Amino acid sequence: MVWFVVVDRSGDRCHLRHQDRSGFFSLSLAVLLFLQMWSLYQIERWIDRPPGAPRPRTWGLWRHAFDRLEDIRLEDDRSRAEMAEWLARFRQTMSLLPDGVVIVDGVMHLEWCNPAAQKHLGLNLERDEGRLLTNLIRSPDFVDYMLSGRFDRPLPFVHGDRKILVELISFENRRQILVTHDVTQNEKADIMRRDFIANASHELRTPLTVINGFLEHALSSEMSAETRQQQLRLMAEQAQRMHRLVADMLTLTRLESLVQQASADTVRIKPLLNRLVEEAMALSAGRHSISLMAQEVDLKGNHDELESAFANLLSNAVRYTPEGGHVAVIWGMENDGATLRVIDDGIGIAAEHLDRLTERFYRVDKTRSRSTQGTGLGLAIVKHVLLRHRANLHITSEYAKGSCFKVIFQRAQLASRQD
Ligand code: ADP
Repeated sequence: MVWFVVVDRSGDRCHLRHQDRSGFFSLSLAVLLFLQMWSLYQIERWIDRPPGAPRPRTWGLWRHAFDRLEDIRLEDDRSRAEMAEWLARFRQTMSLLPDGVVIVDGVMHLEWCNPAAQKHLGLNLERDEGRLLTNLIRSPDFVDYMLSGRFDRPLPFVHGDRKILVELISFENRRQILVTHDVTQNEKADIMRRDFIANASHELRTPLTVINGFLEHALSSEMSAETRQQQLRLMAEQAQRMHRLVADMLTLTRLESLVQQASADTVRIKPLLNRLVEEAMALSAGRHSISLMAQEVDLKGNHDELESAFANLLSNAVRYTPEGGHVAVIWGMENDGATLRVIDDGIGIAAEHLDRLTERFYRVDKTRSRSTQGTGLGLAIVKHVLLRHRANLHITSEYAKGSCFKVIFQRAQLASRQD
């Protein structure tokens, strides 16, 4: 109800009169309410649209609210874009890591892992996400470690053909990170080192025992000048054997510790082979016929290393070829590159040994190797020298018929006048 002041037409009297206009106000209120609702509806629609969509027309307080909302939205979009960029960067960095990273929730369900972890643990993120890690990796050692709750030390465990070191690190309240590190190669290197030391000690122990025995005998008993002379000769032989062994071990260790490629001096191969063939003839002492066919092809590389590799191949050919046999050395350009062949018609090698010949101390016939002054390291040295000169060794052999050791140097390894 509303009161109005009414002025009479007849005079200046005025009086108060009330009039019922509630319909008009209700209508205004409804319009106002509708406009508010409409604005809210507009906001809702606008918020659902992609960023940058035109703003609906608004007025008064609503315009102000839209301004604030738009600022918040822009800020939100910016943060999202930044987050997405960080996430992409994080994933890229993680995928480049050689170590594996696995994120699990508080009860060990797989949330995420990088490619290295997939490789180390045989996981597949698409397939395994959300699954229990201890169901995916069932190695008892691994399961015990994960359930033990004691993660102060990493756990080494064998997974397939790999040896993996895993360490669990708690992060956030309800998440944990499992870091994996593949130590298969370190393990292999350790085993090789241990074997090498065991073999080397064994190889050195034999001549030392012989020398010791002679010395004790010489000190404890009288002996004729002739026996003494004979024993001294045998001791000298054993001492030389030890010397050769130590020299080969040092050469091999030095070659293995060098990380960079061999030097790139020009090495004139033909004169080098001429000299090595002369040495082989001296070793053969007329028991073999030795021939050389060499082209004037020179290499880039380290003279001493190449000399030691080629000398080993030639001396093997002489030592493993019985008297009356032939050794041929052929050097020159072939289709694959510069090629050296050392061919003999000696005792040959059965097929099952061929793959292992370049291993340290691997011998097919131990007695023959020792009696011909072998150390068991010659072909290991050859392999390392060739590796450092980007060359390949191919061995073909037939038992009791003979062998061919073929070395191929890439064209890039030729000295410039052949380029
Ligand atoms: P070693 O000092 O015993 O000769 P190497 O490493 O040079 O050691 O050779 C490894 C083994 O390979 C030898 O013990 C021998 O059994 C075999 N071998 C190498 N060259 C020949 C060859 N030309 N003919 C037959 N057997 C060979």
